[in-house]
Amino acid sequence: MEKYQFGYGCMRLPVTNADDPASFDYPLIEKLFDTYMDQGFTYFDAAYTYHGYHCEEAVKKALVERHPRDRFELATKLPLRDFKDAEDMERIFNEQLAIIDQVREIIEKNTPIPCTACSYCTHGCPKQIAIPQYFALYNSISRTTGSFSSQAVYYNNISLKHGKASDCIGCGQCEKACPQHLPIRDYLQDVAAKFEAGSSFPTKK
Ligand code: SF4
Ligand code: SF4
Repeated sequence: MEKYQFGYGCMRLPVTNADDPASFDYPLIEKLFDTYMDQGFTYFDAAYTYHGYHCEEAVKKALVERHPRDRFELATKLPLRDFKDAEDMERIFNEQLAIIDQVREIIEKNTPIPCTACSYCTHGCPKQIAIPQYFALYNSISRTTGSFSSQAVYYNNISLKHGKASDCIGCGQCEKACPQHLPIRDYLQDVAAKFEAGSSFPTKK
């Protein structure tokens, strides 16, 4: 089976008390989610009603708050059969929107450069700077802790074939092309400060 055809159903997550559907065994759930993702799978399927109406909380805690948003796809479902009337539907829909808002807040907090990786900026760059790749590495390293940085290794590998962030001459071509109107030149300075200061890796001359 192709990996993209396989989804992680969240109807029966591990619990510590069989009589309490909300007694989530978080260490085990996190281990299961991580193992699934380590194998290259990305799709999760939740629903408002699973686990006595607590499933979305568990998925938020074990998945959304622990992994970058671009690492997974998450679907959830509105419980049409549970709606008594339009007011009820609105209440449940608003609860789901509140969760989405929280998720968005987490994503924004963990994504200092809101680049969508469309690559429109790179075509006219006289220095062939790998702008979206560098921004992705910068966002990624902002979410990690510890002294070793695989992002720094990736940065140096990419800069062997492309211009470095510090090679930017400030012509502004990229910013004219960016549909998000990002201050790319300023961000590149942040990238250079993060990845080039004191680097011991070889880079293109
Ligand atoms: S401003 Fe810098 S990154 Fe943008 S196109 Fe010019 S050289 Fe390239
Ligand atoms: S054009 Fe803007 S949003 Fe698109 S890749 Fe470049 S910086 Fe990112």
